[in-house]
Amino acid sequence: MADIIQLLPDAIANQIAAGEVIQRPASVVKELLENAIDAGSTKIQVLIKDAGKTLLQIIDNGCGMSETDARMSFERHATSKIRSAQDLFAIRTMGFRGEALASIAAVAQVEMKTRQKSKEVGHLLRVEASKVLTQEACQAAPGTSIAVKNLFYNVPARRNFLKSNPVELKHILEEFTRIAMANPDIHFIVHRDNEEIFHLTPGNLRQRVVGLFGSNANKKLIPVEEDTDIVRIRGYVGKPEFAKKSRGNQYFFVNDRFIKSGYLHHAIMGAYEELIAREQYPLYVIFIEIDPAKIDINVHPTKQEIKFDDERLVYNYLKVAVRHALGQHHAMPSLDFEQESTFNLPVISPEREKEILPSKASGSNLGKGSYSSPPLSQRERNNLANWEKMYASMTQPGDEEDFIEGPEKEQQALTLESSMSATNQDNDGLEINAKEQKAPYQIHRTYILNQIKSGFILIDQQAAHERILYEGYLEKLQDQSGTSQQQLFTQTVEFSPGDTEILLGILDEINLLGFDIQHFGKNTFIINGIPAELVGRKDESKVLDQLIAQYKFGIELNLDIKENIARSMARSAAIKRGQSLTKEEMQGLIDKLFACAIPYKSPTGRNCFHTFELEEVAKLFEG
Ligand code: ADP
Ligand code: MG
Repeated sequence: MADIIQLLPDAIANQIAAGEVIQRPASVVKELLENAIDAGSTKIQVLIKDAGKTLLQIIDNGCGMSETDARMSFERHATSKIRSAQDLFAIRTMGFRGEALASIAAVAQVEMKTRQKSKEVGHLLRVEASKVLTQEACQAAPGTSIAVKNLFYNVPARRNFLKSNPVELKHILEEFTRIAMANPDIHFIVHRDNEEIFHLTPGNLRQRVVGLFGSNANKKLIPVEEDTDIVRIRGYVGKPEFAKKSRGNQYFFVNDRFIKSGYLHHAIMGAYEELIAREQYPLYVIFIEIDPAKIDINVHPTKQEIKFDDERLVYNYLKVAVRHALGQHHAMPSLDFEQESTFNLPVISPEREKEILPSKASGSNLGKGSYSSPPLSQRERNNLANWEKMYASMTQPGDEEDFIEGPEKEQQALTLESSMSATNQDNDGLEINAKEQKAPYQIHRTYILNQIKSGFILIDQQAAHERILYEGYLEKLQDQSGTSQQQLFTQTVEFSPGDTEILLGILDEINLLGFDIQHFGKNTFIINGIPAELVGRKDESKVLDQLIAQYKFGIELNLDIKENIARSMARSAAIKRGQSLTKEEMQGLIDKLFACAIPYKSPTGRNCFHTFELEEVAKLFEG
């Protein structure tokens, strides 16, 4: 029998390879951008026509190619980036399989102009369906320009398989975003059908992220920075209150290469636990630097997956790094001193202000920063220190100093702490009177409205109180420190056998929270005392039932026992919507909330407050 095996002609082999490497216009953009970056370019232009179906052109100012290299670059397995198998383990460049240009040229009409900086003339090559049509000297700017026209013109099945323009464009911009993000020092310009849609000048990562996500992104970012002997982690995560219901804007880079990792995503979501509701996703842009020998990049160009030798360690470091960043920055939510440009409101004179706001106190300087809630614990004080900047700039109508700009105002901000403790002591009736007529205000017995420098803040009283109680309870449980309870009444109560079981299981802990409950045999308990904050409440007898009901729910959620108890107690004991509050109670609530480690969310993930920027409010009233 005759031999039947033949080598495939190159053009066909290239087409088959192209099927793997080039799936859609976005793959062309990715490959060409990576080549331009590998060539050391500092400025790269991208031209897109008809979502890349008609034209994709990448123009760079990189090293360019010699005549021979220009010709060679279209051969399969032609690469300048890898010489030995050894190199595979230390790959730092983007490409190295030498397949991209060969693949693209197999399924499109390609025109390349390239010139090395040191040479006077450049080279022009036209390749169609792997056939070199033209190769000649030409005028060219230093660097390389590659135009890819009519992608898949010779593979109709694939061309028909392309999606609508908006979809293909979205894929292109997604690839572009990943690459531009990883290279903030490169100048990128993108034109779509003759319209410039991106112009990203070189800068730092923050500027690049803002350039890509829009200027609104700036105030949403919290920096992450963590160095360990194994990995270096840096980048940004979004403030929890900006988390979104839909995914998108989540980026991981390992050694500047975009990767997808469900595992690392999970680490980040873990760090946000409690801070955001379920089904919400925070923004993140995380760069992980690691010794290339310690990872295994799946070298398939279309898969962006990676294996770490020590996956769990990286997971933990990442989670800690993000948690740490969130913790450090919780104190600076969108109350916003980090914004570069401050919004300038037209200055209103104090007199005019009085006309506008007749209910405000006139001329009292006493109220600022004072409140009559119980003194704060050390932990709360520490947390509060972070908030003082914000508080210092909370403008209370009637505080004349608010209209003074400049050094005096600064001075005042700095001395807030001492004045706060001072007023704590000489808290007299006069002061309360003056305060009576000022913010905070309660709205619908549900929300607390307070003014801050950049606008105003609306606090959900119930969610806020749950957060405050939760942190307090958790601390007591952890330190085993809570003992105070009020011996106001003694009561015998009976529970169902199921609830008895539960109560017995958590009796020690809830007694730490200020209850004084004894088991009296079978299903009966004696209550000698309840936590001080519950005394006198209308529903005080129901709190224990609510606590048990809440706790059962927590068991379903598999919560840690202490956390579950703290959460259940907070839910049961918190002031509810509909309860009216005095100014002092509101002020105390605000102070305590912002002394919390995590003031944004209630323990069950509801927002505790929302800030309204004057800038946004002003927009509502624009003509
Ligand atoms: P790879 O990037 O895997 O090496 P490619 O097919 O993408 O393979 O490119 C082949 C070769 O062509 C590269 O190794 C590089 O030497 C050269 N090349 C491609 N694009 C450029 C460019 N924009 N500037 C300079 N050289 C380039
Ligand atoms: Mg390449």
